[in-house]
Amino acid sequence: MLLKKNIEAVIATVDEIVPAEKKVMVDGKEFLYDFLVIALGADLAPEKITGRDNNIQTFYTYEGAEKLNETLKNFPGGKVGVVVASMPYKCPGTPYEGAMLIEDFFADKGFSGKVEIDPFTREPQPLPVAGPDPGNEVKNILDKKRIRFHPKMQLDSVDTKLKQLFFNGKESFKYDLLVIVPPHQAPGVVKNSCLTNTNGWIDVDVASLQTKHENVFAIGDINSIPLPGRWVPDKPMMLPKAGVFAHLQAEVVAKNIAQTIKGEKAADKFCGDGYCMLEAGEDLAGFAYGDFFGEPNPQVQLKRVGKKWHIGKVLFEKWWLSPVGLKKTMYKNLLLAGGKLMGIPIKL
Ligand SMILES: Cc1cc2nc3c(=O)[nH]c(=O)nc-3n(C[C@H](O)[C@H](O)[C@H](O)COP(=O)(O)OP(=O)(O)OC[C@H]3O[C@@H](n4cnc5c(N)ncnc54)[C@H](O)[C@@H]3O)c2cc1C
Repeated sequence: MLLKKNIEAVIATVDEIVPAEKKVMVDGKEFLYDFLVIALGADLAPEKITGRDNNIQTFYTYEGAEKLNETLKNFPGGKVGVVVASMPYKCPGTPYEGAMLIEDFFADKGFSGKVEIDPFTREPQPLPVAGPDPGNEVKNILDKKRIRFHPKMQLDSVDTKLKQLFFNGKESFKYDLLVIVPPHQAPGVVKNSCLTNTNGWIDVDVASLQTKHENVFAIGDINSIPLPGRWVPDKPMMLPKAGVFAHLQAEVVAKNIAQTIKGEKAADKFCGDGYCMLEAGEDLAGFAYGDFFGEPNPQVQLKRVGKKWHIGKVLFEKWWLSPVGLKKTMYKNLLLAGGKLMGIPIKL
């Protein structure tokens, strides 16, 4: 598809970004640019967990999810700790989706009574970025499934021999299986480019996604966008790292670059609207959508868990992962029609 549009795609590693010279070094070759869009995502840094070893599991990588699946199949029962190691992390609903899918896996096996699932996070509630109501609703769903949510728990270290978790001066927790959302960090090339702020991410103008350098933009997980008027407790709360925002930011930047090249005003703005299907196990899902920039709280609603949102999630994945062609168009049209039917203004 890129080739058809006369786009030269260079599949290679970016070694250096030098905004002062408007150049990027890629596998030793120099590329000069007029506009640069940095979309290098967030790297996982499990090595930052004190006491970590290879027995810790994660579903944050494909290989990790495969390994966890094998482990779950052979798990005899016991306590499963699902731990958000630090902030920020990709997709705020994911640790709870993971916990609910693990619960569902064991329920299907007839293991319900034999497994306890305990998610831990530094956050005061699930999905605080979406505001108090959706968070409370997710907490209620977890309660109904007997998944014990542990808020305000910042992981200090793990003792993998004793199978014990230690938190910020709070009671420790003994586990039989540990599933971690690893710490996230900017890729090395971005850290070395002097583009990052004190928290390690790239600051951007919220509307245009431009960095401190003219015509250099940063979109997706690599950027850092404060939510207006929201604090945790002494730092600004950040827009979550999520594919839906990466996608919408890409559209804004692409349109604005095209308009600038044509000599027109670059008028498109990122508005903070987002949505997410929250997988809840049992082939059911919830659906959260709205304005994450709303003040004093985001205008985000969580629709009741149901089959239709699960079907929506499956269609969304199929649309996103299908190569260009009839099938992709069909999934897109089904999603748009479903959104229209339910009165939800989905942009794809
Ligand atoms: C388990 C899981 C579930 C999720 N579920 C959802 C969801 O339901 N909804 C949602 O909106 N989001 C979800 N997310 C988050 C979503 O995947 C990310 O927010 C999104 O992929 C970010 O897009 P990005 O383009 O910024 O970064 P990425 O998709 O990470 O892309 C960055 C790319 O840059 C490459 N790269 C890095 N350094 C270099 C270099 N030096 N040279 C060349 N290439 C480099 C990386 O290899 C990568 O391919 C989920 C994430 C996880 C882990």
